[in-house]
Amino acid sequence: MNQKLIAGNWKMNGSLSFNQALVGALRAGLQSPAACRIAVCVPAPYLSQLAELLKGSPIDLGAQDVSSHDAGAYTGEVCAAMLREFGVRYATVGHSERRQYHGETDAVVADKVRLALASGITPIVCVGETLAQRESEQTEAVVKRQLAAVIHANGHCISEIVVAYEPVWAIGTGRTATPAQAQQVHGVLRAQLKAATEQADRMPILYGGSMNAANAAELLGQPDIDGGLIGGASLKAADFLAIIAAAGRLAA
Ligand code: PEP
Repeated sequence: MNQKLIAGNWKMNGSLSFNQALVGALRAGLQSPAACRIAVCVPAPYLSQLAELLKGSPIDLGAQDVSSHDAGAYTGEVCAAMLREFGVRYATVGHSERRQYHGETDAVVADKVRLALASGITPIVCVGETLAQRESEQTEAVVKRQLAAVIHANGHCISEIVVAYEPVWAIGTGRTATPAQAQQVHGVLRAQLKAATEQADRMPILYGGSMNAANAAELLGQPDIDGGLIGGASLKAADFLAIIAAAGRLAA
């Protein structure tokens, strides 16, 4: 497997001074060369600041969303081509908070993925079940339906995406999927990707949901967990660095 990918999702957090301090601490604490791939997905207004702060570092720049339209009369939207101009390499797409609070459907997510890929941005496609869906044994059906929409709309380009399994009940709750629970779903997603592309084994499938310095090594040690999408812990340099170090040790 390739190097692990550790991506921070800052959500709607940060300020000019906070960002500068956080990136400074990350850069000071990172080994060179980094033993895993690293990205931070930041709020759109900070993309140009982060593009400067990350220059010459092993940390790639990410956005947290991309429009499902390519240009035009869509007030408030930011399209993939604009993100690309700021050096954005990754964008989370279909995060559960976007599905939940902004009504994003599987079809909208699939369009966003298509437009991100067309602009050379790697979408980190988030899938995951709610607690009610898990308790009624719908987990597999839900994540497969979410991923199928993206596969269907993206044909042979599908090998260029990153998938993130993020159980909704584990996001920001401090409640993490057990390594076995996460691996089980990652195995399902890997099989689904294998049916769609011969490249499935080299496609990163990240786990996200209260990953932290204490649980990262065990989660990342699972055979189909190729990295992490980290929310809260990515806002604390020491914690994010510890997760990066855990990922690096597994690659060694
Ligand atoms: C996320 O927002 O993608 C996430 C995984 O958040 P947290 O790590 O805070 O659960």
